[in-house]
This record gives sequence, structure tokens and C-alpha cells, in this order.
Amino acid sequence: MSAKLSEQAAKQRIDQIKPKLKKWSQEYYVQDRPSVEDDVYDSTYQELVSLETQYPNLITADSPTQNVGGKLLPQFSKVNHHIPLLSLGDVFSKQELDDFTIRVEKNYPAVKQFNCELKIDGLSISLRYENGVFVEGSTRGNGQIGEDITRNLKTIPSIPQKLTRPITIEVRGECYMPKKSFAKLNEERERNGESGFANPRNAAAGSLRQLNPRITASRHLSTFMYNVADYNDLKTNTQSGLLAELNDLGFNINPSYQVADNLDQINAYIDRYQQQRDGLDYGIDGIVIKVNDLKLQTKIGATVKIPKWAIAYKFPPEEAETKLLDIEWTV
Ligand code: NAD
Repeated sequence: MSAKLSEQAAKQRIDQIKPKLKKWSQEYYVQDRPSVEDDVYDSTYQELVSLETQYPNLITADSPTQNVGGKLLPQFSKVNHHIPLLSLGDVFSKQELDDFTIRVEKNYPAVKQFNCELKIDGLSISLRYENGVFVEGSTRGNGQIGEDITRNLKTIPSIPQKLTRPITIEVRGECYMPKKSFAKLNEERERNGESGFANPRNAAAGSLRQLNPRITASRHLSTFMYNVADYNDLKTNTQSGLLAELNDLGFNINPSYQVADNLDQINAYIDRYQQQRDGLDYGIDGIVIKVNDLKLQTKIGATVKIPKWAIAYKFPPEEAETKLLDIEWTV
């Protein structure tokens, strides 16, 4: 929390912060070309959260804290998400994470387990299947409305065209660019005198939102799916069971998930993957901790922007990753 400002000073500061965050979001979500590192965005966003927590009357509907980031490109048709795709609340320390789990367990004593998952550094996608056949795929967009990128998603080998059962279901997850594909793509762009992508997340977003599916196909994207719009379409009643069932249906899921019965197990999971992070062939920027019981997830609910039954523990930025973001190979 920042030091307590008077309401007038807080309003002035909010009026300075909001245009900055909006500009950075535009660069990140629309142009796939951020000009600042994620931790700069995150700390500025946290300052806004802190000021709005101190003075809730200063919260406006257009505040970045009230909207899922992501702007729609006009060249794509729109898809209505009848069940919104949300973002995640962030924590940056073990203490804040402890506070989250303790708060959830206190308010909902029936919560006994959390599912720990890797936070894949890609972008959210939603895939709709009718009678087991892939019919429509979209980006998260602004959470309510996404971009129709079906033709591009059809080029990604890990997305099944047909499921192992003829069910009608909407599956959500992450599309990402493996580290090797990212390095190769930027080398190619360097050879061609084009500017490189700042990171695999932006490269994945830029590759998915192409009008020519052949370009998407050449970018070697992959996916990990981790959620469904409506879990009544599944047999399981837990988050860990949901992942196993998605795998049985034919989806790629990230196998590193683990059910934790207590805080020590959550912390051990975080430490393990923070250490192993560099050795993975895909980027992760943290760990997601979710209430494991799906009915309790629904009971706990969500704000307009984030589920209240999950939290993202963000890793500190890697030293080696500190770099100029706007890579111009030609200079
Ligand atoms: P987020 O990336 O912090 O977290 C939410 C997203 O995590 C979900 O929408 C989902 O796509 C993803 N995710 C990955 N693995 C998951 C899993 N196992 N379970 C559930 N979700 C999983 O939030 P956001 O709203 O997508 O983006 C905000 C973040 O984007 C900021 O925290 C910042 O780091 C970055 N950003 C950076 C800039 C910049 O200028 N550098 C600008 C805007 C946003």
C-alpha cells in the first residue's frame, strides 16, 4: 500500500496513472509491442488498486481495475462470450498469498484443497465444440466480446478438431509460443530486417491475430487448456479432475498441476517451479492457485474482472530478461 494521501492528492495521482496504464495496455494488447516491462505496468497498476482501495468513491467504470484488458481489432468478427473470460487477481509476495488463502478458508470453511498450476505466459483463448467437433475459437478480447480467430486456431496441432466424445462444450486455456519457436522467429525477422517481438507472449498474440492463417501455421504455436465455460458439461467436480478430463477429451493440458492441502505445500510448489522455470520450453510468469472444488468456485464467485476463488502469484522479473523492449534489429 502506498502512503496515505489526501483524497484530493489521490485523485490527482489517479488522473496521472490511468492514462499511462491505458497507453501501455494499447501497446501491449493492440500493437503487441509493449514499451515498458510487465513489472513496471504491474507496480503502477498496484498503486492504482491501493489508491482506489483507500478511496472507493474514486473508482470509475473506465478504470483499468474494472475492465479486463484486451482491445478488439476491427478486422476480426466478434464473438460474444456468454460466460465472460476473466483476468486473475495478482499477488507478489508469499505474505499476500497467505492472506488470500487464509481469507478464503475463513469465509468458506468448506474449502479444503487448492489446485496449483503454472501460469503460462501466453494469451487466453476460448474453443467451442458442438457434438465433439471444433466450430469456433476466439480471443479473450475485453472479457465479454472476443475476436473470431477460428481459422487461425485450426492450424495449431495441439487443438483437437474432434473430441474423443461427441459433447458440446466451451473450453478455455492459453495459447503460447514455445521458447525455441520464439528464438527462431526473431532470428528470421532479424535476417529479414524486421523488428523482433519483445517476448513470447507478444509473439503469440501477434501470430494468432493474423488475417492469413498460413502465417499463424508457420509460427509453431501450442496450447494448454485449463478451464471450461460451464463445468456441468463435465463429469468431474474438481479443478484437478477437470484438467484430467480435458486431457481425456484430447486437449493438451499442462501436467505440472498439483493439489495442495495446506500453505506449506503451495509454497513448496512455488519454490520448485520458480527454480525450474528457465528449464521449461515455454514461458511462465507465476503460479495460479485455485480452489479445487468446482461448486465452491461458483459459490465464491467473481468481481467484474477477476474470480475470487483463484489468485496468481507473480514471479519477480528475471534479471536475464531485463532488456530493451522495442527491439529494432536494424539499428
Ligand atoms: P494476467 O496475465 O496477469 O493473468 C490472467 C491471465 O492468466 C488469464 O487471463 C489467463 O490468460 C492466464 N493464465 C495462464 N495460465 C493460467 C492458468 N493455469 N489458469 C488460469 N489462467 C491462466 O492478466 P491479464 O489481464 O491477462 O494481463 C495483465 C498483465 O499483462 C499485467 O499483469 C502485466 O504483466 C501485463 N501487461 C503488461 C503491459 C506492458 O506494457 N508491459 C501492459 C498491459 C498488461
